[in-house]
Parts: sequence; C-alpha cells; structure tokens
Amino acid sequence: MTPIRYRSLASVLREWYGRPVPKIGLDAGFGCPNRGPDGRSDAGCVYCNNASFSSSNPAEDIQEQLQISLGQLSVSRRWAPPDGETLRAIAYFQSYSNTWAAPEILRQRYDKALAIRQIVGLAISTRPDCINPAIADLLAEYHTRTQLWIELGLQTTSPAALAWIRRGHDVPSFTAACNLLHERGLRTVVHLIPGLPGETAADRKSCSRLLADLAVWGIKFHHLHIVRNTPLESLAQSGTVFQPRAAEYAEMVADILHNTGTPVVHRLFSTCRPELLSPLDKSDPEIPGLMRRLFTPW
Ligand code: SF4
Repeated sequence: MTPIRYRSLASVLREWYGRPVPKIGLDAGFGCPNRGPDGRSDAGCVYCNNASFSSSNPAEDIQEQLQISLGQLSVSRRWAPPDGETLRAIAYFQSYSNTWAAPEILRQRYDKALAIRQIVGLAISTRPDCINPAIADLLAEYHTRTQLWIELGLQTTSPAALAWIRRGHDVPSFTAACNLLHERGLRTVVHLIPGLPGETAADRKSCSRLLADLAVWGIKFHHLHIVRNTPLESLAQSGTVFQPRAAEYAEMVADILHNTGTPVVHRLFSTCRPELLSPLDKSDPEIPGLMRRLFTPW
C-alpha cells in the first residue's frame, strides 16, 4: 500500500495555538440514554466499558480533574511549556454522552471548564440522538467564545452492524444531528470502527460518501477491542468475534479517507489500558506499528 498523507489534529492545534496543546479527558457526571433511565446501569453498546475511555483522574469535580491534569502535564516531558509560558489545554468532555442533559446543566458544566484560564477550547463527545435544536443553539454560543468541536459516535453506517453493536440509533439520526450542528457553523468529528461484524466494503463506501456529502470536519478511527465486563466479552465467549488483521484494517481506513475528502484525523486506531482488555481479545498487535508506517501526518 502506498503511504497515505492525512491532516492531523496535532497540525490543526499548532495552527490554532502556535504550539502543541493537549486534551484533558473529563468525566463530567453525565450518563448515556443507551444505558438505561439512569444513564449508567444498562449494558449499552456491546463494547461499552466507560472505564476504558474515561479520565484516569478520579476527582468528581470538573475543575479538580482539570487542575490535577494540568499540574501533571505541565511537568511532563511531552507537554511541559517552554520557560515563561503557561500550559494551555482543551477540556475534553469524554465519558458517556456529554449533551444528555438540559441546556442549563450543560452550560454550568462547560462554564466550569472554561473558568480555568488555561482551558482554551472544548471538545464535546456525544451521541447523535443527544443533539436537538436547543442544544445545537447552546453549542453555537460556545463556538463564538472558544475553539470547539463536537464528537458524534456513529461507528458504522451499516444497519446490520449498528444493530449488532446495539448502538440504539440509526443513520438518519446521525445525519439530522450533523445538519443541526453544521447549520450553526459547528465542527463535527465522527467516530468510526471500521470492519465491525456485519459491515461490508459497500457499506464503507456509502459511509464515506455520506461523510463527504455532510462535510464532517474530522474523523476518529478505532479498531475493535474486546474489553472486560462488556456484552462483547460474553459474545466472544460463545463464538468468535471478527477483529480485522492489521493489513485489512489499514486498507479500510485508507479507503474511507480516500473517499471522504480531507477530514482532520483525530486518531487512526484505538488504545486500551492492558488491565481492561479481555483475555478473549484478539485485536492485532501489529495495528499501531503498521498504521504509523503507512500513514503520514501533515
Ligand atoms: S453511546 Fe457511548 S456511553 Fe453510551 S452505551 Fe454506547 S459506548 Fe457506552
């Protein structure tokens, strides 16, 4: 496969801020409508274990989470700012669905993050069915105050694969959410898991066309991990779950990028804390290395 050049989030952040800027993942106390009435009890998507994509910082208060992380990052080898400068960061509302609440509650929590001087942007992760006109209006207001993007979990446009992962929403709800956000000039980032069971090459082509037509701003790719204590782990106990080999996965990602235009790539593959991985996980350990060799950021 010929090397693929892609526009990376890191390069966009350097354009915006003149230097690398980290994201700080937050658990802002929201839930998810796919996990039952209280938002946290039911199983939700087959692969969902929020511990695998949550803030490693156990503080309950958003500002406390941010202050602890800012302190850690500012003395880290990777993110320590040059002498005389202050570390700046983006508050990443990451765990669960971060627009699943009334606008006034959302406002309180986003404002808490922005009240910290070093927070210079917001990234808000949510589900398509947690966007409505009132929430889109609220987000548009934040877009005038700070750098902002909205991450929408879609994972696939294959109806069979969406049903298999028990995603609990369809493609039209994703399209409607994108339209509500784009009409207000907001940036959207779509999450995809290429190669889910039930997804075909034709599905991926139509997914790329849809993303190009909608002009999504960015894409975040993940490969499927089997995480402990998830419905997926139980499915894997009763049969094999398809997890693409590195070359197949790279080809899928390349095809999607090729057919989608020039989105900002936020991530090319997923990572998972080893202690959370199920012994049944068969994800190809070659994926990170191959992706780094084949894909070059600009
Ligand atoms: S949408 Fe996210 S938080 Fe909700 S069940 Fe699916 S993976 Fe879990």
